[in-house]
Amino acid sequence: MILDLKAVPEEAELSEVLQRDWWQPSENDPILGIHTPLHVRIKVTHVGDKFLLDGRVKGSIMVRCDRCLDPFHWELESGFHVFLVSPRPGKDQAEVELLDEDIEVDFIHGETIDLDEIIKEQVYLSLPMKSTCRDACLGLCPVCGANLNVQRCQCNQEGMKPAFQKLKDLKFEGA
Ligand SMILES: [Zn+2]
Ligand SMILES: [Zn+2]
Repeated sequence: MILDLKAVPEEAELSEVLQRDWWQPSENDPILGIHTPLHVRIKVTHVGDKFLLDGRVKGSIMVRCDRCLDPFHWELESGFHVFLVSPRPGKDQAEVELLDEDIEVDFIHGETIDLDEIIKEQVYLSLPMKSTCRDACLGLCPVCGANLNVQRCQCNQEGMKPAFQKLKDLKFEGA
């Protein structure tokens, strides 16, 4: 969605539903794709040559589990505020400091804004630091790489971690 800055009224409400083909994952993209369409709503407030975007994205995306590396879908619901200003170093700096911490500042280049780029950035920012397919995900065996959610490998049974082994020994000492 391209926003023509010259045509924006003082206040505008935009909404869009982004389908699966909207996200074309790049190489090593932490987001593998869209699972259910992303619903986007953006309120644009326009004062002079400045624009404030208040947006919300909701839907679900495919990501990879940090522990077992399997893809799974993650519910995304995120609000964002982006302040768009023309790049004029010095002057903008002072204005930017007055703003709330949760307002991101982007610079306007030209007379249009690619809202898709802004939405993409917000989707990345909303990702959790660690994403796991479930709280109890067992991950991969560090020795053979087997997915321990699916199978129990031989090294897991025999090659116990030293700390675990110690704990096991302690238990038997008193018996
Ligand atoms: Zn997992
Ligand atoms: Zn193993």
